[in-house]
Amino acid sequence: MGSRLETCKESKHFKLKQVTEGVYAAISIGGTGSLSNAAIIDLGDETLVVDTFLSIEAGRDLQAAAVQLTGRPVSYVFNTHWHSDHTFGNQVFAPTAQIISTSQTREIMATVVKERVKQHLSEPAAIYQAIDEVREKMELETDDKLKKEREWEIGSDLAYMKTLPELELTLPAVTFEQQLTIHGSKRKVELISYGGGHTQSDAFAYLPEERIAVMGDLVLEGHHPVMRYANPQEWLQILDRVEALGVDTIVPGHGEVCTLEALHQVRHYLHDVTALVEQALQTGRSIEDIQVPEAYRGWYFTGDFPANLQRLYKLKST
Ligand SMILES: [Zn+2]
Repeated sequence: MGSRLETCKESKHFKLKQVTEGVYAAISIGGTGSLSNAAIIDLGDETLVVDTFLSIEAGRDLQAAAVQLTGRPVSYVFNTHWHSDHTFGNQVFAPTAQIISTSQTREIMATVVKERVKQHLSEPAAIYQAIDEVREKMELETDDKLKKEREWEIGSDLAYMKTLPELELTLPAVTFEQQLTIHGSKRKVELISYGGGHTQSDAFAYLPEERIAVMGDLVLEGHHPVMRYANPQEWLQILDRVEALGVDTIVPGHGEVCTLEALHQVRHYLHDVTALVEQALQTGRSIEDIQVPEAYRGWYFTGDFPANLQRLYKLKST
């Protein structure tokens, strides 16, 4: 089976990593239309794909990899949450696959996301202008890591703009609330939601025999957790319950395949940024003066740090 991975055609959007026999992580390559990670799971008689990337082109590469690695079309696609970098490749899989999410995730895609896509289609100039602004900042940036992050942002934004005219927002057809189990001939996968932490509704795929979890954006590795829509208290409770399952290996929403250590780091991060905002509120200091703590300075998604502070500030002061 290792040879299947070796002979699998390479994609510019992701690199494939075998997590265990029949379970593969598609790890995003920066600045491309993938933007997030995905996973391919061989159930024995059927194939499950977890998350579908941002661009249609990246989604097509993911589908091709799934077919090559498992020798059959994809039967199931699971969206961990509604964010575009986890769902906009859905349409590629629709002809052969049932698309699955929580009912709330589907509802948000059918309303909020649909409206947003419509708005983007009607005003593409605004997005191109935002991209130009990022490019200006990128050109002035003297820090190599921050410069690279800006470049990646531009690359992914342009990939999105290329996808937009072709996008057929493809909603999940099968929904669940807390848990849905897929019983394959070779392995069982539990799709589990403990509510919303990163978004209003987050779910993950758990392989109980192998103790592998494909976590969506509930766990990121080497990236700032994205808190724009977060409920940090709920998020921490979800992480506790995930840890209690006995997970060994994690495919994170962004970053490399990792262990529970990454989950612990997300927990520390949520505590640390919350404490920083509380301190600022108590001392009357502006959150704009808060620097990224030393421990997280090597992480990507640096632009999310101020956004995370703002989200917490809003939650704490209302
Ligand atoms: Zn997300």
